[in-house]
Amino acid sequence: MIFGLAACSWPDRTIGAQSEIVMDTVCHIDLFESGTAELYRDLFTRLRELEHVLSAYREDSELAKLNRNAGLEAVEISMELYAVLERALYFAEISGGAFDPTVGPLVKLWDINSSHPRVPLDNEIQAILALVNWQDLELTAPRDGYAARAFLKRQGMAVDLGAIAKGFAADQLVKILEEQGVPRAIINLGGDIYVWGERAGGGPWRIAVQDPLAEQGIFAGILYLGGDISVVCSGVYERYFTGADGKSYHHILGLMENGIDSRRGYPVENHLLSVTVIAASAMDADALSTACFVLGYEKGLELAMAFGAEILFIFEDKAIRGSPGALDVFSPSGVY
Ligand code: FAD
Ligand code: MG
Repeated sequence: MIFGLAACSWPDRTIGAQSEIVMDTVCHIDLFESGTAELYRDLFTRLRELEHVLSAYREDSELAKLNRNAGLEAVEISMELYAVLERALYFAEISGGAFDPTVGPLVKLWDINSSHPRVPLDNEIQAILALVNWQDLELTAPRDGYAARAFLKRQGMAVDLGAIAKGFAADQLVKILEEQGVPRAIINLGGDIYVWGERAGGGPWRIAVQDPLAEQGIFAGILYLGGDISVVCSGVYERYFTGADGKSYHHILGLMENGIDSRRGYPVENHLLSVTVIAASAMDADALSTACFVLGYEKGLELAMAFGAEILFIFEDKAIRGSPGALDVFSPSGVY
């Protein structure tokens, strides 16, 4: 989790920052002096609309319809779902499959977000892995008045956009801020942060990066950033469970043999605790944070830098490494 630090006070008529649970995560929006009930309502309504399109957890979502038709037929999809699937396939390709939006069946098998997750048997994992392959997600662009379409080629396949959709949602909220002429805001969708505009009084925004080994609110350090930028973190410390063997199992699943000690189909084990990506688009930062976590330090750094994003890695031994541009704007707190 990362946090925007920007406590300020505004005239009485404005409403302070608002939080709601959407997409099973705390979504926090601070509009500062533009904080009206109406605008907050519009932004949270937009988030719920997007959840209805992009959720793998709701049976009535558009994504659920695509998944139900796996192996059967192509379905017409909205431009929103098309945009996220298209970008997800792009990141699948440039990460060599480390990021894979067809990870759905594996996410369901591990069921880490449920109240009683368990460690699957190895043969269950191997069987499910046969259903995970982004190259079997067929996407047709809209043209000549026909809607975009998507098709999962094999029965049992399923798309899960948990690693990219919150970022897309943050970018969509930013569009509304832009349309409404809002001068500054912080959007934080469960750790997918977008800082919009200039900080009141000038100076950089300060975004705190959670210490993955400490309780929530204890920071590994602060990022000092100009406006109109996104910061997204993926880590092992928020969604995980302890198996019967006493071991901790987190939610970022290894989909490639990465040469360290990660096994395909299992939570990634590569000595990383968190990866934070800074990029102009929250969707890109979200996908990259997960992709680079799976890839590990060296390949992840290479991918982020080739993309033009900045990146910070926090390791189990508390070392912090990253791209020169990220280290330049990062001030570690004393304990690190
Ligand atoms: P990220 O690193 O950004 O993403 C990790 C998530 O991506 C994993 O949880 C998994 O879903 C998926 N993933 C794992 N490995 C890979 C990989 N190698 N490549 C690609 N993707 C991978 N959770 C609930 O419990 N109930 C809900 O009703 C629910 N609804 C949601 C609706 C939406 C629209 C979204 C976006 C998320 C929802 N979630 C829900 C949460 C979701 O399942 C994830 O837990 C969450 O998105 C993790 O985000 P993150 O930023 O912590 O991690
Ligand atoms: Mg992500």
